[in-house]
Amino acid sequence: MEQGSQVPHVIIFPLPALGPVNSMLKLAELLSLAGLNITFLNTDFYHDRLVLHSNILDRFASFPGFQFKTISDGLPADHPRAGDRFMELFDSFKLVTKSLFREMLCSGQLNSVTGESVTCIIADGILSFPIDVGHELGIPVISIRTISACSFWAFFSIQDIIDAGELPSRGHEDMDRLITSVPGMETFLRLRDLPSVCRANNLEDPNLQHNAYANRQSVQAHGLILNTFEDLEGPILSHIRTQCPKVYTLGPLHTFLKFRLESENALLQSPAPNSIYKVDKSCIEWLNAQPLKSVIYVSFGSITVLTRFELMEFWYGLVNSKKRFLWVIRPNLVVQNDGEGHIPKELLEGTKHMGYMVGWAPQEEVLAHQAVGGFLTHSGWNSTLESIVAGVPMICWSYFYDQQVNSRFVSEVWKLGMDMKDTCDRVIIEKMVNDLMGERREVLMKSTIEMARLARESVSEGGSSYCNLDRLIEDIRLMSK
Ligand code: UDP
Repeated sequence: MEQGSQVPHVIIFPLPALGPVNSMLKLAELLSLAGLNITFLNTDFYHDRLVLHSNILDRFASFPGFQFKTISDGLPADHPRAGDRFMELFDSFKLVTKSLFREMLCSGQLNSVTGESVTCIIADGILSFPIDVGHELGIPVISIRTISACSFWAFFSIQDIIDAGELPSRGHEDMDRLITSVPGMETFLRLRDLPSVCRANNLEDPNLQHNAYANRQSVQAHGLILNTFEDLEGPILSHIRTQCPKVYTLGPLHTFLKFRLESENALLQSPAPNSIYKVDKSCIEWLNAQPLKSVIYVSFGSITVLTRFELMEFWYGLVNSKKRFLWVIRPNLVVQNDGEGHIPKELLEGTKHMGYMVGWAPQEEVLAHQAVGGFLTHSGWNSTLESIVAGVPMICWSYFYDQQVNSRFVSEVWKLGMDMKDTCDRVIIEKMVNDLMGERREVLMKSTIEMARLARESVSEGGSSYCNLDRLIEDIRLMSK
């Protein structure tokens, strides 16, 4: 432990969404274990939900230099902050949260538990305002993105794609066109694999504009943290380093934290909370009774929604495959925009014999279970990394944002699974499930086992992420001198 004023004090400021908050909590825990003082700044709305559904306060209570602080996101309490209204957060951040943040810093409200001022801010790079405020007040800001390096790079390149005349999209028939202006992806990236914001059919689309601009702001930061590892994304990282020279790859953060806690013999070795929903652990008992590698786990993360039509196609596909399945059906998973109707009896019967459903699963534990042989996923980055570490091959049904890029890399570059984006057909689902659990299994398992080994190696002593965390901590300590 360092003495008095020498202890650096870091503010960690996530985008208020499950993936970024989870990853940044893991980083906060790693930095706390290294003896740094941490202030974790969440929006009130998000903090309240996290406290309600997880053991987050107890988990951090053992770090005397750690504190949670909250800030308003500027939206009314009954605003959904989800789906297509999520982007409204960005306007309200600009209008309300930016000046509140500046005020809190200037008035000392964000000083550490022991009253020290801020050494540096680690903020989600998509929130560009912390960089402006940091510059204004002379506080170094390190950006963190909790998406893959490949999707970050695709987002970063949006303006170049536009300048090359490869956007806007000209409709559905155009989706297989190769995009040649993202360095490192020229031979395999199709229009349909670009971040979903690129599907806009006019260049004035506010979402497209925002992403073209905000993703470039990270170059203004002191450095860039990514939740990935060099063996997975080395070639793309070299391209990113031409624009952001100081990149710290620290992933997979969930495995890094687990290993660090094990090596410190820490009391809290259970997986860090991943939840703003109540976890149903009964599925572990169900899995215990299933044969080795016989179950396909199905989960679409915390934000993706399905139409009723899509739900039924997945259901038929799974039941018709005759494979066992464990399916996470969140309370708000299905939007009823294409007519209500009863779930056919034969499906409920099929599920009873072959499947199990929960509202929210302990996902890391599920993926590590010996009965799980495949993962039908929406290709969220956390789910993808968790699947990689567990060595479970994937079927990718990407929904939005970065997921289209991730699923292309999973299938085409890393060979860790199959990509079924932009289709939702029971026959295709049945075939893919059977292929994944059957004839393609052996080939895919070779690459998944190897990548799982490399992931673990990267966060073990001497591995790339392990060394990068030391480098990050050293750089932060130098800032406090
Ligand atoms: N998750 C979970 N239980 C579930 C479904 C998801 O714990 O039943 C966790 C999962 O382990 C991951 C996160 O929720 O850490 C989802 O993050 P991801 O980036 O994959 O997707 P998002 O929710 O951001 O779309």
